[in-house]
Amino acid sequence: MQPVVLTKIEDVRTTVPQKRSPDGAEKEQAPNTDASTTSKHEEVGNGDDDQWQDSNSLYEEFLDDTEAFAYPAGQSFCTAQAAKQYRQRLHEIGLEEFVEETLVKGEVSVKTLCAAFGVRIPSWLQGESDEASYRLLGLAMLRELKKRQRIPGYENIDDAAKLLKTSENILVITGAGISTSLGIPDFRSKSTGFYTKLQAMGYHEPEEVFDLDTFDVDATTFYTLAGEILPDLDRWTPTHQFIRMIQDKGKLLRNYTQNIDNIESHAGIQSAKLIQCHGSWATATCRKCKHQVSGENIFEDVKAKRVAHCKKCIAELNAERPGMKRKRSSNGAHKSKKRSSGTDDDSDGQYDIPQPGVMKPDITFFGEDLPDKFFDALQNEDRLRVDLIIVIGTSMKVAPVSEIPQFVPASVPQIYISRDPIHHINFDINLLGDSDRVVAELCKRAGWDLKHEMLPTNEIINVEKHEVLENTYTVKAPKVEPTV
Ligand SMILES: [Zn+2]
Repeated sequence: MQPVVLTKIEDVRTTVPQKRSPDGAEKEQAPNTDASTTSKHEEVGNGDDDQWQDSNSLYEEFLDDTEAFAYPAGQSFCTAQAAKQYRQRLHEIGLEEFVEETLVKGEVSVKTLCAAFGVRIPSWLQGESDEASYRLLGLAMLRELKKRQRIPGYENIDDAAKLLKTSENILVITGAGISTSLGIPDFRSKSTGFYTKLQAMGYHEPEEVFDLDTFDVDATTFYTLAGEILPDLDRWTPTHQFIRMIQDKGKLLRNYTQNIDNIESHAGIQSAKLIQCHGSWATATCRKCKHQVSGENIFEDVKAKRVAHCKKCIAELNAERPGMKRKRSSNGAHKSKKRSSGTDDDSDGQYDIPQPGVMKPDITFFGEDLPDKFFDALQNEDRLRVDLIIVIGTSMKVAPVSEIPQFVPASVPQIYISRDPIHHINFDINLLGDSDRVVAELCKRAGWDLKHEMLPTNEIINVEKHEVLENTYTVKAPKVEPTV
């Protein structure tokens, strides 16, 4: 008999997100992403996927829910221990056999397996037949199969401290969470003031502000808002100090940061050790003549919410104006140079008035490639040398940075430090809490003397095992009762 379950789950298989090759053909993505599939172009959205996105994003919300084990009215469908065994079994025998062994034999219910793979059955599916939940379960199992497997022997904060001491080539991946204690908003997070300001101005997504085409048409929006994300040059957090410490001990292989604030540089991370995956404020470039200046040169304009223009372009235009000998055409003085995609050229042609180029900070906008340095360092050097990965303050949602943990050899231990757990990547050790405190506690246990003005002295930190999640600990300072 053709098992109905399998058919249903295979239906799901055909709708799992696929990587697109440049010609638009769909390509199966292997669990361990090969370097060649990490194309610089693939993160650009593709309209064809919209339908898929719409139908599956509905389900995605219910995937990897920490509450999956606890249904209303205290009903429990699967213990954490049983869940672990189901997940191991799926990896051992593969999807088809696993489905045969469980659902087809009727020995295990869909609800139990949903809980095992971290899915809470949404209210609109409760009371429906089991079949209604197959698609959800199928997605959860396929996602499980793509995850890296934990390395036995690493579990808690002391194991993490030991790894810190013994590793020699540490790759640190950082995100907005390491800068928020300085008041720099994470502009991808909906909870920040920056996001609210965007909405108040009628923008619903940060993509609308950080879009290259929009910027080239009219840079005023960007310059009106950019002041909000302009870094403070003099301060950095204990977490930055921690990365600096890894470097000072000669153990920093590379810091891949998704932050554009360039604080790592100010904290003393050497440029050779730093990959600013989404660019940074460190430099700014003219959209017209490609003249590059130090980022600080445009800070005054940014603070004044005024579009910064290229001084080189202005100087050239001024030099030409006295006799007005230059033919007033957009192609004139720049004929020999490669054109930027700046569309202000069009208005030049239309009105025949040469304009200086607009300066754009070298942060990577949507629609721009990531810096070449990212791919070169990762593929040619870091992948081969790394012996420990520490991910701090990022939810690892943005490719290709989010793909690094899958891209390095499976034998490399991985530690995750952040306020909230993530479920789409299996780290060996998860330390949840304020990253400044977590790294301080980690250093203490490693015998490293991390000093920073923002760290209270002699603070006792509680480290507690998470009730449900494996290899996960919460790290926090006890609440101090106010003395009246
Ligand atoms: Zn210029």
